[in-house]
Amino acid sequence: MPKKKRAGAGQKPIPKKKHSAAGKEIPMPKKKLKIGFFSLTCCEGCELAVLDLEERLLKALNYIEIADSRLLLEKPLSKKLDIAFVEGSVISKHDLDSLHSIRERSSFLVALGACATIAGIPGIRNSLPDYLQDKIKRNQIKPMKEKAFPISAFVKVDFLLQGCSINEEEFLTFLNRFLHGKTTRLEQIPVCFECKHRQNSCLLLKGIACLGPVTYAGCNALCPSENAQCIGCRGFTDDANFTALDSLFKEIGLSKEERHNLFTYFNQLPEELKEFAKENSGELPNQLKELAGENPKKKIDLEALK
Ligand code: SF4
Ligand code: SF4
Ligand code: SF4
Repeated sequence: MPKKKRAGAGQKPIPKKKHSAAGKEIPMPKKKLKIGFFSLTCCEGCELAVLDLEERLLKALNYIEIADSRLLLEKPLSKKLDIAFVEGSVISKHDLDSLHSIRERSSFLVALGACATIAGIPGIRNSLPDYLQDKIKRNQIKPMKEKAFPISAFVKVDFLLQGCSINEEEFLTFLNRFLHGKTTRLEQIPVCFECKHRQNSCLLLKGIACLGPVTYAGCNALCPSENAQCIGCRGFTDDANFTALDSLFKEIGLSKEERHNLFTYFNQLPEELKEFAKENSGELPNQLKELAGENPKKKIDLEALK
């Protein structure tokens, strides 16, 4: 009589689970993910936010290997990358060449922070009046274009981690979800949702213009919780009602210039993106189409802002 097999005998042992960086349990990967950090034109504050994770970043190294980083390594450890995190905007040919080469090397590309996702702080120059643009030229800063662009204007971007700087908790959540094969957007709600959740009294009722109703959440309503207006650093939501908010800002007493400055502090106006497409390939990448107002829900009342 052949011996009966014990239940489970001959089967592969279940791999031991380890704690993930974000505190949940995930199986140890066979091979660590090779990741890289890259900076275009920016302050490098988003990569610093990742380094700020300290102990938790060290724990995450059970699952990832940092294979390229100007701040951390003398030279790259690998050409091919599973994930490239790119911070900064494109304002020069050097930025553009670097971006194309990073895209070629990487299976998955994450735009890291406001500069990379929506042109952010470098994008402020996009809305400067001509006399200031001229000053920039006279000072011999030679941009490729007279504008700064989010990286999605030039390459396929697989995921956005927003904010100025990014929220490091979101970075860990993204890694955790990526290791589970999930790459869907993290937050789909506006800042107001988190603001109400924190039981803040609304700044709009005090006559302070706030972009919370049209801005993606994920910062836990950082600014309104400190009595400061949201200035849109996490990008505009897909279903934002700009016209209604703009009317409210008018009622509060903001001038056209103040409204224009607030809406464009971190975010580009759709008209500028269309202009860019005309000058270049003539066709906007899909992500920019939405921003440029081809999604009817996404229109800004440009007439009013002029
Ligand atoms: S998003 Fe803000 S913190 Fe991040 S690189 Fe740009 S300016 Fe710096
Ligand atoms: S303060 Fe700003 S974010 Fe908070 S509820 Fe009011 S509009 Fe929304
Ligand atoms: S409240 Fe607005 S400006 Fe402040 S961190 Fe959040 S998204 Fe950015």
